[in-house]
Amino acid sequence: GADVRVVYSFADAIEVARRNPRREVVFFSVGFETTAAPTAALILSLVEGGDSLPPNLSLLTAHRLTPPVMRFLVEEMGVDIDGVIAPGHVCTVMGPEHFKEFPERYGIPTVVAGFEPLDLLLGLLMCLRQIREGRAELENEYTRSAKPGGRREARRALLEAFDVVSGWWRGIGVVPDSICVLKGELKGLDARERFGVSFEPEPDEIPEGCICHLIVTGRALPTDCPHFGKGCTPHRPKGPCMVSSEGTCLAWFRYGPQGWGRLRLSG
Ligand code: SF4
Repeated sequence: GADVRVVYSFADAIEVARRNPRREVVFFSVGFETTAAPTAALILSLVEGGDSLPPNLSLLTAHRLTPPVMRFLVEEMGVDIDGVIAPGHVCTVMGPEHFKEFPERYGIPTVVAGFEPLDLLLGLLMCLRQIREGRAELENEYTRSAKPGGRREARRALLEAFDVVSGWWRGIGVVPDSICVLKGELKGLDARERFGVSFEPEPDEIPEGCICHLIVTGRALPTDCPHFGKGCTPHRPKGPCMVSSEGTCLAWFRYGPQGWGRLRLSG
């Protein structure tokens, strides 16, 4: 019976709330730094500008930061990472130095790359060169967008609107200092606070037999899953990696050439 609508951004949710003043509107605010920052900036610009948000609007936030979970993979899960292609859109907001700990602290070659095919190929080439030459540096292929320091206003908004706390990642566990939650006076906008609800992780959140949690953490390939291409296809997905267009299993199913199934991860 719920009225669920797909919106492009928080600005659209504000509009929906204004048009429906007698209904409670909850914006499901999900994503990494790239979506957390614009939402934070819009909230702060309205609050600081004296233009209040509709009283019937709240946010159910599910924002996460990328470096903490990568750090968790290296430190806690012992995943052996040869090189990092750091996401260019995150670095556009946060600056390439958002990922500097990986070369500096863990000795992992790291290249910031965009998402066009040529960006990714060049990023891979730069990363492979570092590995071949025994270097571990932070390099930036995506210089046309990811500038040192990132977008300062977006970074400021992120820091001012959110506290960073430890939280649960599906299939991974509790990752320290990885989740963004509304802070200070903005807590009143949090749907959890407003409606007194909480969410506990469910032990059987990964479908039986699905190994998505191993795939997204680099410990298995889609072809290691007995369901891949059989009980689990894009038309009948069994796990989350086969649902999203960015999911590893879906990409592997669509674009993986004959013979990739014979690849095996080392170690
Ligand atoms: S999404 Fe499907 S193919 Fe991928 S690991 Fe899960 S069950 Fe296996």
